[in-house]
Amino acid sequence: MADPRKYRLAGLIGDPVFQSRSPMIHRHWLREHDIAGDYVLLHVSADRLEQALRGLPALGFAGCNVTIPHKEAAARIVDRLDATAQRMGAVNLVVVEADGSLSGSNTDGFGFIESLRDGKPDWRADAGPAVVLGAGGAARSVVVSLLEQGATEIRLINRTRARADQLAAELGKAVSVLDWSARAAALAGAALLVNATNQGMTGQATLDLALDALPTAALVCDIVYNPLLPDLLVAASARGNPVVGGLGMLLHQARPAFAAWWGVMPEVSPDLRASVEATIA
Ligand code: NAP
Repeated sequence: MADPRKYRLAGLIGDPVFQSRSPMIHRHWLREHDIAGDYVLLHVSADRLEQALRGLPALGFAGCNVTIPHKEAAARIVDRLDATAQRMGAVNLVVVEADGSLSGSNTDGFGFIESLRDGKPDWRADAGPAVVLGAGGAARSVVVSLLEQGATEIRLINRTRARADQLAAELGKAVSVLDWSARAAALAGAALLVNATNQGMTGQATLDLALDALPTAALVCDIVYNPLLPDLLVAASARGNPVVGGLGMLLHQARPAFAAWWGVMPEVSPDLRASVEATIA
């Protein structure tokens, strides 16, 4: 039985946070590992972010996740960043250290890579060119994690080219930028296609992308998870491409956070995946 004397909290700081599935995921693991604690939603406005983070040690928090729109600001507030968070310029995981100081990490890229391996266990970053659509926070974590895994050619394409140019300039010569109008032609010879825009999300238009030039062996990933199977993946699957949805990224990014707070690396079981899917389907 969980030891109530060791009861601690973790949570999610964001604005808004009400729609988050993270409590469901973390509470599942807390129960599974018989840990006395809870995971709560913390709706915090930008002007109170620093106060909220600095209050974590006094409130008995082991740490927290950070989500939109606070990931970049949190990176400036915490006392230290690991190398990945530095490269991402964004923090989604804060750990309260024994002395009350705050360490920042970023596990989005880990989640993304693990989700690719779930979909295709023999996936390799150096298998061929990757095409990444988008240049927001999610695209940055995708590109940084692909580079960390050894990708040698990433074609980055965003509707607003200047954002992609800025990202590529920070990340080195393996990342080249193409115009949005060249997105269909850019798929020629690709081994991986990732949609990291918000197109295809419930409430948004379908991603406007002709797949004809994409090799059918290419892995296609859409990090959108609502719907579970966006139109891009329906189309890719119909022509024989292996596909990976965005839910795996959401589930796997939570694992190193749980491990950092509670000392146990949890697994994404079929049961957990099914219960989270049921909240979306
Ligand atoms: P963001 O910073 O707001 O970026 C949005 C991206 O979508 C930008 O690249 C933007 O291009 C592009 N976009 C918006 N409207 C467009 C349109 N009409 N046509 C083409 N491109 C358009 O958002 P984000 O945080 O990077 O998130 C992007 C997506 O990733 C969201 O759907 C989010 O749900 C998903 N996501 C999933 C996970 C997961 O765990 N699976 C994690 C994080 C995010 P411009 O620069 O031209 O505006």
